[in-house]
Amino acid sequence: MTITPPLTFDNRFVRELPGDPDTSNRRRQVLGACWSAVEPTPVAAPTLLAHAYEVASLVGLSDTDVASDAFARVFGGNALYPGMQPYAACYGGHQFGSWAGQLGDGRAITLGEVINAAGERWELQLKGAGPTPYSRTADGRAVLRSSIREFLCSEAMHHLGVPTTRALSLVGTGEPVVRDMLYDGNARAEPGAIVCRVAPSFIRFGNFEILAARDDRALLERLVDFTIARDFAHLLDAHAASDTATDTARADAVQQRRAAWFREVCERSARMVVAWMRVGFVHGVMNTDNMSILGLTIDYGPYGWLEDFDPNWTPNTTDAAGRRYRYGQQPAIVQWNLVRLAEALRPVFASPQPLEAGLDAFLATYDAAYEGMMAAKFGFTAPTDGAQQLMREAFALLHATQADYTLFFRALGDLPAVLPADATPRDLLGDVFYADEALVTHGDRLGLWLRRWHAEVSATGDAPSARRVRMHAVNPKYVLRNWLAQEAIDLAEAGDVSRVHELLELLRNPYDEQPGMERFTAKRPEWARHKAGCSMLSCSS
Ligand code: AMP
Ligand code: MG
Repeated sequence: MTITPPLTFDNRFVRELPGDPDTSNRRRQVLGACWSAVEPTPVAAPTLLAHAYEVASLVGLSDTDVASDAFARVFGGNALYPGMQPYAACYGGHQFGSWAGQLGDGRAITLGEVINAAGERWELQLKGAGPTPYSRTADGRAVLRSSIREFLCSEAMHHLGVPTTRALSLVGTGEPVVRDMLYDGNARAEPGAIVCRVAPSFIRFGNFEILAARDDRALLERLVDFTIARDFAHLLDAHAASDTATDTARADAVQQRRAAWFREVCERSARMVVAWMRVGFVHGVMNTDNMSILGLTIDYGPYGWLEDFDPNWTPNTTDAAGRRYRYGQQPAIVQWNLVRLAEALRPVFASPQPLEAGLDAFLATYDAAYEGMMAAKFGFTAPTDGAQQLMREAFALLHATQADYTLFFRALGDLPAVLPADATPRDLLGDVFYADEALVTHGDRLGLWLRRWHAEVSATGDAPSARRVRMHAVNPKYVLRNWLAQEAIDLAEAGDVSRVHELLELLRNPYDEQPGMERFTAKRPEWARHKAGCSMLSCSS
């Protein structure tokens, strides 16, 4: 018997936007439509491997619902709850700097839009649930390793305070999926899995770009106004025209709304990337099809976390040659992506001015947020010349001494009120460095920097204990380092998912000291330096 949870679906995307009349999942170009109806392809043995109870509760699912067989069947793609209307969305994108044409949900299927008890809208979307019209030459499936990475990182990012899509469930399919993980001719069968991700909207920059590329101005206009009405509803009230308004006044209100909307997209994207920079997250594939219109981190693929600080680091081997998506370039790439979005939106704006203003707002928001964020990481309360100078010098020192980004800032917050006179950087900060040689050469400079930093923050007169609390609130203790995820994956592939649960629990409180969990905050072990999945990741997933 299927237990039917009392979920309320209100599927506005399929109700208000045109769909594809062809309902087969034959691969094709889909014109004049924003989506294609497609059902998940059933799997052999859907088994619930993990779930996030907070997300279940957010969408209105109880513990009993989650424990029922129906849950694993629905979120493994073998059944639907009443009210679900599954579809794959049509979008395009710029990949690695070039227009790639139609991409679309090749292995993602949205099941429906739930309205929860608080009136919030949450889209439920399966990733890896089988082919869609947008699957091109691929199979529509996902492997366990990449699904664990997406499941854990979505939740870890949320608890770090980074805007992100969420993850409800991780379901094993009981079916193998063949992948050539490093694209080196060594394909192998891996266990398959499906993640259900959850967000108020999965609309991407690419949903607009594809319509602009096809000169479908009417549909572009509809999608823009739909997005504003559904996902930015506060802008409807802020820029409303009265019932008696003239046609010109109405058209003006629509233009103002669109202008406010684009500006907000720019501001949200700026805040998102500032949050990435804060926690040392490197997305790895910032193509425009992987940019959420809500400014959420989306599509967890070959992402990684800074370990030894290097602004040029990219976790994605596919990106190794050009390093387009390296840590230090992420803000510029967000801006580049916003320019592509602005170009796509130009036909629905009466003049380019609001688009230019939105892009200016990106820079202004980014600069202010980045400055405030960095000052907070270093524990500075005022932008004095001394503080600015110290911050400018810090990153070159972190790079030169191969300091672990996460551990360094955490240790900085832990420095005592008085620094012992002859203490070295290693005495003061602990084992946060990856190369002894680097400390021999640059240790003295770092030691001087630490003393100047200490004098600067001590000069403000606030208690060291208060500073420690402030700094620890922005400098996480625990992040999902690739090697931690990889250990959980290796165990899970051998049938033991307990580490996935343990990491999920640990990462719920990434800023807290968690006694007994020190192992998970250690710097990258030597074995992980060159191991696939730890230092080498590809888009193969
Ligand atoms: P990504 O680089 O993961 O963001 O994917 C880019 C495009 O490829 C999107 O349209 C995906 O839906 C599609 N895609 C990636 N992997 C698969 C797969 N295994 N099957 C079908 N489509 C896929
Ligand atoms: Mg994608």
